Amino acid sequence: MEDCLFCKFVSKELKTEIVYEDDDFIVFKDIAPKAKNHFLAVPKTHFKYLADMTDENAETLGRILKKIPSLKDLLHLEGGYRLVINQGDDAGQTVPHLHIHILSGQQMGWTPA
Ligand code: AMP
Ligand code: ZN
Repeated sequence: MEDCLFCKFVSKELKTEIVYEDDDFIVFKDIAPKAKNHFLAVPKTHFKYLADMTDENAETLGRILKKIPSLKDLLHLEGGYRLVINQGDDAGQTVPHLHIHILSGQQMGWTPA
């Protein structure tokens, strides 16, 4: 999709530090980390909301969720980790391309303050 930051990372039109890539998704460091380790897993196909997903998108997301734990050394998941998908304004979604936040490396609070 034109004018989508994460599509531009996927297409390599813009550069980011990609730490993992396969046919389904890329993973790179969040530019403003909210935990000691903060990566973003971004499907290569553009869609904004879980509610917009096609069956194919859902299969891709399933494979991504299965893959993330296997990247435990690369993503520093050994002590536990949190996955977050912000959806819409109340959740603070700022990039309109679905992405999974992967947070780890510290004890985390829970309240969405
Ligand atoms: P969300 O607020 O859930 O839409 O998450 C978007 C995330 O993208 C935020 O955590 C931002 O810090 C992150 N972000 C924005 N621009 C960049 C960038 N150029 N490189 C890496 N991460 C970014
Ligand atoms: Zn996009």
